[in-house]
Amino acid sequence: MHHAQNLIAGRFVPAADGRVDDDLCPADGALLGTAPRSSRADAEAAVEAAREAFPSWEDTPAPLRGDILFRAARLLEARAEELARTLALEEGKVLADARGEVGKTLRYLVFAAGDARRLHGITAPSELPGTLAYTYWRPRGVVGLITPWNFPLCIPVWKLAPALVAGNTVVLKPAPETPLTADLVARIFVEAGLPPGVLNVVHGDADPAAALLDHPEVAAISFTGSTEVGRIVERRCAETHKAVQCELGGKNPILVLDDADVDLAARAAALGAFGSTGQRCTATSRAIVMEAVADAFVEGVSRLAAEVVAGHPLDPAAAMGPAVSLRQLEKVLSYRGVGDEEGARLAHGGDRMTEGALGAGFFPRPTVWDRVRADSRIAREEIFGPVLSVIRVSSVDEAVAAANAIEFGLTSSVFTRDLGRAFECVRRLDSGMTQVNAPTVGGEGHLPFGGVKATGTGPREMGPDAWKFYAEQKTVYVNHGGAARTSRIY
Ligand code: NAD
Repeated sequence: MHHAQNLIAGRFVPAADGRVDDDLCPADGALLGTAPRSSRADAEAAVEAAREAFPSWEDTPAPLRGDILFRAARLLEARAEELARTLALEEGKVLADARGEVGKTLRYLVFAAGDARRLHGITAPSELPGTLAYTYWRPRGVVGLITPWNFPLCIPVWKLAPALVAGNTVVLKPAPETPLTADLVARIFVEAGLPPGVLNVVHGDADPAAALLDHPEVAAISFTGSTEVGRIVERRCAETHKAVQCELGGKNPILVLDDADVDLAARAAALGAFGSTGQRCTATSRAIVMEAVADAFVEGVSRLAAEVVAGHPLDPAAAMGPAVSLRQLEKVLSYRGVGDEEGARLAHGGDRMTEGALGAGFFPRPTVWDRVRADSRIAREEIFGPVLSVIRVSSVDEAVAAANAIEFGLTSSVFTRDLGRAFECVRRLDSGMTQVNAPTVGGEGHLPFGGVKATGTGPREMGPDAWKFYAEQKTVYVNHGGAARTSRIY
């Protein structure tokens, strides 16, 4: 049994009023532990601790800040298996996927720690004689990080690392569904040597998160989660003049053109749609397929859907775990009626898996809808489950138009053997990332990650510039020539 605690001013503490929430495994309802159900007051105490810690963290030379992150990476590596098992049990993804998440987190953390020696500004020639003109980057101060459950290790770390490297102090409000992973992250960073108050963690749901949005001492918010909550975050940050970065919902398409390797495309679609129970932000949820290959594609992907072995996340035979919660399962199942009403053809699934031990968990069956209209709800709305909507089209133009016809734009993929058509799609698809002849899922930490339109506002996460969201550029003019500067106005 693991009892997560808040981290405030270097101490692991319960919520001030002592309330806790149970943390249950979505595969079988097993009680894994508890976490504080924090209030606004807990979040405010965390902000105060971060505010107090900021001046000396800002003064700590950036390479020394980076050294602490390198130590955190070594500790994370040493505890990789414990992290993978914890996140598999509470989020529900199978152990192989959880191990993949740990590996990705580790690689990104090492990359971001190195940024501590690359917080480069510019020097530029000045119009004025005897003048040095340069820029440098100042941390923003206290930053608030609000994260979702679907990558409970990766996403907190891909925000934390650049924020800390750039010299900010942090209050992290992790997802209530996955507190134990966040607790391990907090303990690893403390053990790595972060001074008290530099990282604070407040568990709970909307109340402590809203307190971060409202607090005048919080200079910036980095949020990943649903578009619905993201809109609240964006509005509130505008009102309180905070810098804001949001990574929100998605409905990622795979385009299968008539010259594609259909078998490869079907396997990529199945991996993207059903892997991690369709709960990746980069999951494939629309297949936009040219008529000439549509029957073969639907047949292939439906067969793969039927072959998915669902099971407990720690069962080595399982390829797909449960939905994260009953609420999420019910949301996925509710789209069965929507698809029927909209006249789509159910090629596979649509129901809950209850065979044997699966009945004790929240398992949606991998689902394929065929002949979906591009403007229907199952083609436009984020379901966040193992559900693929196949939209049939007759040309590349129609495929691109269907792909771009929704409000989201995280990632996309195109399957074709024609390089010219591939690059045309890359150029025309409205998404932050595009894959060619590869699944929509995945991404590497040293490259930027994020979406356009209702999926993403603010600069990209990860990649070489991630830390810049957490810093402000200052421009400096030094008159070292001694000439009086009275005549220059502009
Ligand atoms: P969510 O929006 O329900 O919750 C995200 C976080 O916001 C949680 O920490 C939650 O406690 C907090 N929150 C809830 N209500 C709030 C409020 N009123 N004010 C401030 N914070 C509040 O999202 P979720 O269900 O945890 O995660 C799934 C969503 O995340 C999906 O929509 C998915 O597409 C998205 N996601 C996007 C990306 C991306 O990079 N674009 C990555 C991962 C997940």
